[in-house]
Amino acid sequence: MFESITKNLNEAFSAFRIGGKLTEKNIRDGLQQVRQALLEADVSYDVTKEFIDKVAEEAVGDKVLKSLDPTEQVVGIVYQELVNLMGPVDHSLAIKRNDVSVIMMVGLQGSGKTTTCGKLARLLKEQGHRPLLVAADLQRPAAIEQLRVIGEQIGVPVYSEDPKTSSPLKVCQNGVKQAKKTGDADIVILDTAGRLHVDDELMAELEAIDRKVRPDQALLVCDAMTGQDAVNSAKTFNEALEIDGVILSKMDGDTRGGAALSVKQVTGVPIKFIGVGEQLDRLEEFHPDRMASRIMG
Ligand code: GDP
Repeated sequence: MFESITKNLNEAFSAFRIGGKLTEKNIRDGLQQVRQALLEADVSYDVTKEFIDKVAEEAVGDKVLKSLDPTEQVVGIVYQELVNLMGPVDHSLAIKRNDVSVIMMVGLQGSGKTTTCGKLARLLKEQGHRPLLVAADLQRPAAIEQLRVIGEQIGVPVYSEDPKTSSPLKVCQNGVKQAKKTGDADIVILDTAGRLHVDDELMAELEAIDRKVRPDQALLVCDAMTGQDAVNSAKTFNEALEIDGVILSKMDGDTRGGAALSVKQVTGVPIKFIGVGEQLDRLEEFHPDRMASRIMG
């Protein structure tokens, strides 16, 4: 993960060291390389510019130049600004104590949404909750069966209806109703429909569910491999639905890092979890400080 940005950043840091003694020019040259590393990682021009401006503001000046180890100071500033860029993040999921909580999962088709519903249900079950998965993705014919198989694997019940006679909204409403009536579940996870691209029909469907079912938490699953596209779709989803958190899937793949680095800055919505593999136990909390350390190598 992030091999290329890590390599490029480390090359930038060695540029700070050229000539033995650090000068303002060394710092500015080094920051140019940091800038290039971020752009190559698919961080947008605007986010990169703001980032470099902030680092420069702190790093260029007597305080750093006259310190005992100016290079390490600059590296420390870059690290801290990376942490600030990706955080802060509150991992809690707005789970109620004495009532059924509803988590609505949204995302584009292929983002990993259905798999992530299973991963989240597994995690919540491990924490002592009794989740119910609701198969409301009637768009993709295989999604209901896929969720059923996932539910079986993790021992979590799945609520579904005949897609020919039902609608996504009805499935969600009835799923929540059933959880409340039977008392068998304390958290309902709605696997809503995705589309290949964000479109009006999808947003109208999701907005209707959001308005009528009133989920306690809306989480967007984004594919880390799609870089700035993931960030742009997060922006659109958030404008329509007010997302509480992003789950960035496929972080185990060969991602350049742009999505992880810029989602929070562009949308204001933090990444709460990352998917790090296809298996259902491959979900981790997202920690900006750990991610920054990883990126810096
Ligand atoms: P949906 O259309 O958004 O519901 O997507 P799916 O849940 O069907 O996932 C699409 C593909 O991505 C499947 O092959 C999943 O196994 C895979 N996938 C999901 N999450 C991850 C992840 O974190 N890492 C990897 N490597 N693959 C993932």
